This record gives sequence, C-alpha cells and structure tokens, in this order.
Amino acid sequence: MGPTLLTHASQLLTLRGPAPRRGTSMRDLGIVPDGAVLIQDGKIAAVGPTAEVTQVPQVRALLSGANLGTSPSVEEIDCTNRVVLPGFVDSHTHPVFARPRLIDFEKRIAGAHYEEIAAAGGGIRSSLRGVRESSVHQLATAVMRAFHEMAAHGTTTVEAKSGYGLTYEHEIHSLEAIRLAAAQWDGTVVPTFLGAHVVPPEYRDNPDEYVQTVCDRMIPYVAEERTDGASGNYKLARYVDVFCERGAFSAEQSRRILHAAVVHGLKTRIHVGQLTRTALELFAEFHPASVDHLDHLNEADIAWLATADTVATLLPAANYFLGLSAFPPARRLIDSGASVALATDYNPGTAPTASMPFVLSVACTHMKMSPAEAIAAATINGACALDVQHRKGSLEPGKDADIAIFDAQDYREIPYWFGVNRCLRTITQRQMAG
Ligand SMILES: [Zn+2]
Repeated sequence: MGPTLLTHASQLLTLRGPAPRRGTSMRDLGIVPDGAVLIQDGKIAAVGPTAEVTQVPQVRALLSGANLGTSPSVEEIDCTNRVVLPGFVDSHTHPVFARPRLIDFEKRIAGAHYEEIAAAGGGIRSSLRGVRESSVHQLATAVMRAFHEMAAHGTTTVEAKSGYGLTYEHEIHSLEAIRLAAAQWDGTVVPTFLGAHVVPPEYRDNPDEYVQTVCDRMIPYVAEERTDGASGNYKLARYVDVFCERGAFSAEQSRRILHAAVVHGLKTRIHVGQLTRTALELFAEFHPASVDHLDHLNEADIAWLATADTVATLLPAANYFLGLSAFPPARRLIDSGASVALATDYNPGTAPTASMPFVLSVACTHMKMSPAEAIAAATINGACALDVQHRKGSLEPGKDADIAIFDAQDYREIPYWFGVNRCLRTITQRQMAG
C-alpha cells in the first residue's frame, strides 16, 4: 500500500515517552486533540495535530504530488469522531485448543469443583484430547480464528502459548500451528513454549520425569535456530513459560525449567501467584520479561516488582469468568511503581475472550485502574512485557504502524461501553508494508 494519512482524530493517543510506564506516568497517554498520523512503508512517519502534520514538507509533497499524479496517491482516512491509539498488545494468550470447555462452564456454574468437572469429562484433559486428536492445520485454523477476533477488537500484537499438547510431538505441533497462523495474519505474533502448563496424566506419578523431558528434549528443540526462505532465521518460540502453582509445577521444578530456557538462549515468563503465593525473588536470576496473574502477593513481592524490569501482567478476565470476588491488587502495584500490563489470558477454561476492551473494562470496574492506566497497561506496557517496545505500543515516528481506530470521541469510552465492540478498524504494519 502507498502512504496513508489519518486526520482529525478527536483524540490521538500517542503513548509517547518513557517505557514501561510506572506510577503516575501510567496516566499520561500523550493525547493530541484533532490528531493526525502519516504512515509510510509500514512505519509511522509523522504524528501530531492535523494542522501541523499536513504542513510537514514530506506530507505536503505527497499530497501535491498525488494531486499532480507524479507520486503515488495518499490514502486519507478521516478520523473525525474517532479515537486513534496504538493497537493493543495482548501479551498473554493460549489460542491453541480445539474446542470450548462447555462442561466446565456449566458445571462450575452449578457449583462443581475441579475434580468433579474432570470426572464429568471437562477440565484441561479435554483440551489435551482435542489438541492431540487435531492436525497442525486444524489447530492453525483455530488459532487464526482467535487472531482475527482479537484484531476485530483492536489488538495488533499477540503473544501465543502452546500448552495443551503436553507431549513432545503435540507441543511442537502447537507451536507449528501458531507459526502457520501467524504467517497468514497481518498482526505480529510472539510465540511462547508452555510445555510446563500442567503435569500431563501420563506423568502424574512421576512429575519430575516430565520436567526432565521438558528441559532435556522439548526446550532444546524449540530453541533450535531454523531457516525458511520467506522469513529467514527463526525459533519455534521466543519465550519459555511455566505455570508455577500448587497442582502444577513447584518453585523448584519451575526454576529447573527456566534455567534450561536461559541455557538454550530463550527468554522467560511465569504464571505465578494465581491460587497461592510463591516468592517472586526466587525467579529474579532468570530475568523474566513478565510475571503473570499475581492474585497472591506480599509486600516483598510488590517491592521487588517496583524496581525490577519485569512487567506485572494482570489477567482480570479470568477472575471475572471464574466468578471470583477477589482480583489482583492492581492499585497497590501501580502505586508502588511496578509496571503493570493487562492481557486477555484467552483460553478455553478460564478466559474465553479475545476482547482487550472488555479486559480494560473489568480492570477499571474491579481493580480500580483508571481508564488511562488501563490503556497504558494494554499498549506500551504490554509491548514491554514482550520486549517489543522499540517497535510497538506507542505512536511515534519510526515505530511500526500498528493502530486501532475506535468509534468514540473520548478514550474513556473504550472501557466504558462494555459487551459491545466499538473498534472500527485496525491497521497493521504488515498491511501497510505489503
Ligand atoms: Zn495463562
């Protein structure tokens, strides 16, 4: 596509400035009234008030050249009565599954516990069955559908985890499905290996043997440098994640897995503190990009997050869907100076939503984040959680042209109108460059 000029946005949220946002800077969205953005070759070329951007010599040359027919035409998108912001960065999702978990949903409503749900044929085992019985192509189709749904709600960058295969073969299939879907989607995908999601039933009596398999077989394979003609060098995953929790992996087992990740040159992130507290400092040496969930924290954990580079990623859609009354302590984290991100946790068991605006709404109403804090958490801080903040998460010259356009005049409408989709359009760098 040729150059594109967005003009007259009621509010253009640039999110320019420091990354990650911490403390009071989370409220600074860098708002430009009557804003404009010029996109060229998939990158943001100019940002500012419409009256200024249209006077930039480069823009004037494009506009007059187009009028004279001497340069490619500029597509102009009138954003009157629209809010324009960086596309959301959904930094925590589990999109590789075959079917929804309707037994869990109905049984949980009726008050059943985890064991009863499993006995009725629900629970994570049903997702394992679904993935193990599916082809890579079928899984990729499901992942693609999730990516499209996310984009429809304003998301342009997605972290996607494996974790419902839990054998060497099916974890690799899951990562290959993510890669296939990513190749067909216009947004950006960051793949994560979550072979340590739960201990699969085959290893129930010997979980350490499964940990050994993850460390000695799966991680080395995932970390191998590969090449393909179209995209050059790549690895099947950029991150290794582990579910450190009672009933999943102990802190000691989690440390072994994260150590193997680092040894093989992969970066780390951790599901931790969802049901019970684990001291975060136990993982400091692995420099996790993010620690996710964090329903259970103490003052030492919060003090550590206040100074660490690690992003605190909160997933309140899971609390909502499980019908919990308690939510992660977003206020204490933000007020202490931790960098907080928000993500959907898209998964079939506890958070079947692709909608970042819904997550923002729950963050405001149930975690008392301000609308501005929620937007910073879903854009620039999400980008920091994936270490892509140099390219994503704000609208600044030189960054990727990943943009969401909302049918709203004020950014606070994004979390305000819940249960409907006000996102009109997303623009991605790949659409613009392609
Ligand atoms: Zn998760």
